[in-house]
Amino acid sequence: MDETALIRSVATWIAEARQVVALTGAGVSTASGIPDFRGPQGLWTTQPEKERLFSLDAYLEDPEVRQQVWRLRLENPAFTAGPNDAHLALAELERRGHLHTLVTQNIDGLHQAGGTDPDRVVEIHGTIHEVECLSCDRRVPVGPVLDEVRRGDPDPRCPSCGGLQKTATVSFGQSLDPSLLQRAHDATMGCDLMLAVGTSLVVHPVALLPRTALEAGARLVIVNAEETPYDDRAGAVLRGDAGEVLNAILAHLDSLQQA
Ligand code: NAD
Repeated sequence: MDETALIRSVATWIAEARQVVALTGAGVSTASGIPDFRGPQGLWTTQPEKERLFSLDAYLEDPEVRQQVWRLRLENPAFTAGPNDAHLALAELERRGHLHTLVTQNIDGLHQAGGTDPDRVVEIHGTIHEVECLSCDRRVPVGPVLDEVRRGDPDPRCPSCGGLQKTATVSFGQSLDPSLLQRAHDATMGCDLMLAVGTSLVVHPVALLPRTALEAGARLVIVNAEETPYDDRAGAVLRGDAGEVLNAILAHLDSLQQA
């Protein structure tokens, strides 16, 4: 099937689906200037030594790691980036009643900035816009903590209990919030179409969600620039830029509605 016919089929599946769940990853935000991890320009592809900064053990054990993480947070593009066509297209799908839940591995908040209803977004790997205390779980907006770093405190401690603080993002070796995992699982079990966009589908346990969807009888559609381990089992694989592909799907949905 050629690309246009495939996109038309996907638009028809979306129009006919009872419950669509989108699963997004770092690839939806690269066009906003936020690098992914594993793509050709990804953080770990170009600077593999940075991987250690995402380990919870390293963060807990090594003050140098914490200080480096806070310094890098100061210039994280997520704080200045805006939503791109992929975020806007997913928000438009939701506005038209085609999106039940959006599970995102991204921590940048750009789906909500792009207009997706925050109540429908499950930020399964947390958010960079908040900071939590690893001892007393106190959660605060990130801005004032970054101001402390700017003022010269290289590793600001929790003002309530003196514990270590970290952005409210899930590091390697750190458990996911069970209630968010449950929400993602429940939405997946109930969906008849999963749209995986801009994700390598290799980070667990999130990478199990497409398998859950398939085993529950749902169709899987993959929109990604590179291969994923699920390509063989997908109903359609659309290789290309997430924003361009999603806009093409929206255009076909328009023509279906006009027909
Ligand atoms: P990943 O880096 O493993 O994979 C991203 C995938 O997106 C790659 O396969 C790449 O080919 C593809 N891609 C890149 N640009 C694309 C585009 N414009 N259109 C279509 N596809 C594109 O990312 P992942 O699967 O999300 O998993 C990595 C982890 O990285 C996640 O846990 C996530 O929390 C974290 N992360 C988040 C951000 C963010 O919040 N924006 C950025 C980097 C990493």
